[in-house]
Amino acid sequence: MPKPPFVKSDSTPEFFRLLVDAVVDYAIFALDSHGYIMSWNKGAQRLKGYAPDEIIGKHFSTFYTEEDIKKNHPEFELEQASLNGVYKEEGWRIRKDGTRFWASVVITALKDTEGKLQGFAKVTRDLTEKKMADDALIDLNATLEKRVEERTAELEKAVAARDQFVSIASHELKTPLTTLKLQNELRKHEIAKVGAANIAPAKIEKMIQSNEKQLERLIRLVDDMLDISRLTLGKFQLEKENINLATIVEDVLDRYRPQFETNGIELTVNLTADLFIQGDKFRLEQVVANLLTNSIKYGNSMPVHVVALKENQRVIVKIIDQGIGIDEKNLYRVFEQFERAVPSNMISGLGLGLYICRQIIEAHHGEIWVESVLGKGSEFIFSLPEKTVI
Ligand code: ADP
Repeated sequence: MPKPPFVKSDSTPEFFRLLVDAVVDYAIFALDSHGYIMSWNKGAQRLKGYAPDEIIGKHFSTFYTEEDIKKNHPEFELEQASLNGVYKEEGWRIRKDGTRFWASVVITALKDTEGKLQGFAKVTRDLTEKKMADDALIDLNATLEKRVEERTAELEKAVAARDQFVSIASHELKTPLTTLKLQNELRKHEIAKVGAANIAPAKIEKMIQSNEKQLERLIRLVDDMLDISRLTLGKFQLEKENINLATIVEDVLDRYRPQFETNGIELTVNLTADLFIQGDKFRLEQVVANLLTNSIKYGNSMPVHVVALKENQRVIVKIIDQGIGIDEKNLYRVFEQFERAVPSNMISGLGLGLYICRQIIEAHHGEIWVESVLGKGSEFIFSLPEKTVI
């Protein structure tokens, strides 16, 4: 069969030299059996930055990082190529200007007909862009995975908090309901025994008062739960009007005085007369009522002092007790949802009151905080701008 016209057997080596030399996307060069560079094509010059006369005769380890040289990695590559005929890898290499590139390397052992090693052919490609894209993808994956893990942990925490809330709330609701049921049974029993007409009016009044106490507790619990659901759904709204906070504090104190008396707690008050702000009367009453209830609940029956004053265009209310106090590490936590600083078997509660107070005060552009010493007492303080615009 005739040879194709463009290949002449005597010009083949020259033809292949020209072919290899013309390739610009691959560095193709030959090494002697010890790794010294013997040839250099245009691709090698473009990729690594050396002109042929700068690099021919140098050892190919010139292109390797210091770490690789310390580990004798270039020698290892030649050994492997010589043993197996070919060695392939991807790794960082260094250009003449010292910059790094991600190289895909193939080293092929060149052996004569007797199998004696004559040298190596080395083909290198620059895969830096691909490597960057791969690395970016790996980073992105890792970030996404981390985010999914964090989100899962958050959801698990939220589900656990909800479960705990349901359990505490059921328990909290059950206590007054059980008391009401029990009281009803006793009354039925008494009516059956002596007849309704024979029960003394004073006794009936006492029964009603005791019922009211349980009902109020139930209403407070349900109100707190409704507030939480409003807050969660973003449906918590304030009615703004010009109000005197001193009057609000006074009104709530009047409502709560009987409770302080029944519990034998001394209550002292120091109110500045005109403390005008713009705000929601009902919601601010709720804050004061909540803080007063807590001063009874956690106050160890010790005296409670209430102060309301004006300072630097802010209206400040303080409710100071000498009760169980709060550990320093819990001072911020108690204002979070469901967070309590006492075991529920000691004093009952849902851990929602202070969270709701904080939401109300912050919605008025105010601040609420507690200063406390464990075992000595607490000072709950909230501050609102005079004539707040909401
Ligand atoms: P609850 O009273 O239902 O637990 P709160 O949100 O009103 O819910 O209070 C959160 C926690 O803050 C309480 O469980 C308690 O540990 C702590 N706390 C609140 N008020 C006081 C106070 N006056 N003295 C000591 N600890 C208090």
